[in-house]
Amino acid sequence: MSIIPTSHSAVTPLTVPQRESVLLAPYAMHSADSVGRRYAEPAHPYRGPFQRDRDRIVHSSAYRRLSYKTQVFTESMGDYHRTRLTHTLEVAGVARNLGRALRLNEDLIEALALAHDIGHPPFGHAGEDVLDECLADDGGFNHNRQALRIFEELETRYHDFPGLNLSLEVLEGQGCRACKGAAGPSPLLEVQVVDAGDSIAYDTHDADDALESGLLTLEELLELPLWHEAALRVRRRFAALSSDELRRAVLHELIDWQVSDLLQGVLTRLADEGIDSPAAVRAAEPVVYPSSDLAEKKAELEAFLHERVYRHPQVMIGRRQAQAALQMMFDAFAADPARLPVRFQDRIPQDGPRRATADYLAGLTDRAAWQVFQRHFDQ
Ligand code: MG
Repeated sequence: MSIIPTSHSAVTPLTVPQRESVLLAPYAMHSADSVGRRYAEPAHPYRGPFQRDRDRIVHSSAYRRLSYKTQVFTESMGDYHRTRLTHTLEVAGVARNLGRALRLNEDLIEALALAHDIGHPPFGHAGEDVLDECLADDGGFNHNRQALRIFEELETRYHDFPGLNLSLEVLEGQGCRACKGAAGPSPLLEVQVVDAGDSIAYDTHDADDALESGLLTLEELLELPLWHEAALRVRRRFAALSSDELRRAVLHELIDWQVSDLLQGVLTRLADEGIDSPAAVRAAEPVVYPSSDLAEKKAELEAFLHERVYRHPQVMIGRRQAQAALQMMFDAFAADPARLPVRFQDRIPQDGPRRATADYLAGLTDRAAWQVFQRHFDQ
């Protein structure tokens, strides 16, 4: 007997609004309620607006270039560690898991997560600090604001409009990252879970990468309350583990523990405050944050990583070399913008040579930045 069905007539396709009305909670952002895009576009026959946003982000050149951009560790330190792209994919995974469990809009979450680090210049925060100083009198440089410039102006993929013409909810979510702490309505839950996913991902993987790079030992990490408790939880399930097995199991436990803690807290807060619509989410205080016990343990880990990893001499050497090269490139291109690629020269009348130079340099990957540096300055 064949197991291949002969007819699909029993399968009724659902429209995006029908599907979302079945799957999403009332406090989720439903595609049908999107306020739309800056440049109006006809609806797609089978993809919702946030699915299209997600696809536009994945097809953008800024997204692809995340693969050669530094997260914390540079290429010279091996190839085990996370790049901006693999970090981004880990964030998307954690945020989507949170979103599915909370019945949020996973398409919006994925679009926001894949986009969240797109504005990073080469060389991670070291590169960002240099460009921010270079533009001190011109409005400064911030990777979250740069992401908005990329979405709205710098990506040129469509004939009808500049940028990617993303849904205004995606731009608003990225805007929340750029103006964190500012007064105003709370971000949508989809935005809040991406932010939480970012924190869960980097707290966990930066420690793993530091172990692999030999900057830390497992014993040192196990003295921190967060790692200590995660190891106790693991050992309750597995009695005898090698140190490599323990390390991997603790990493899994750390993610699972943080996600479970968040879910429990968020569901309680949503119920306690009677939040039942995106409008109510915006009107309430943010609800996606860890319990105070876990927040305290995470803060201790972050302080430790800051001291022992982000400021490790080996990391700092690479950081200083990269910053010196970026500074030289900025000064040279800003003083003689005729050396910029034509599409950045074209932006000078509206943006001035310094912003156009920063846009060009920020768009480079680590690898491309070193190639430009060698071509122009290192002969
Ligand atoms: Mg990130």
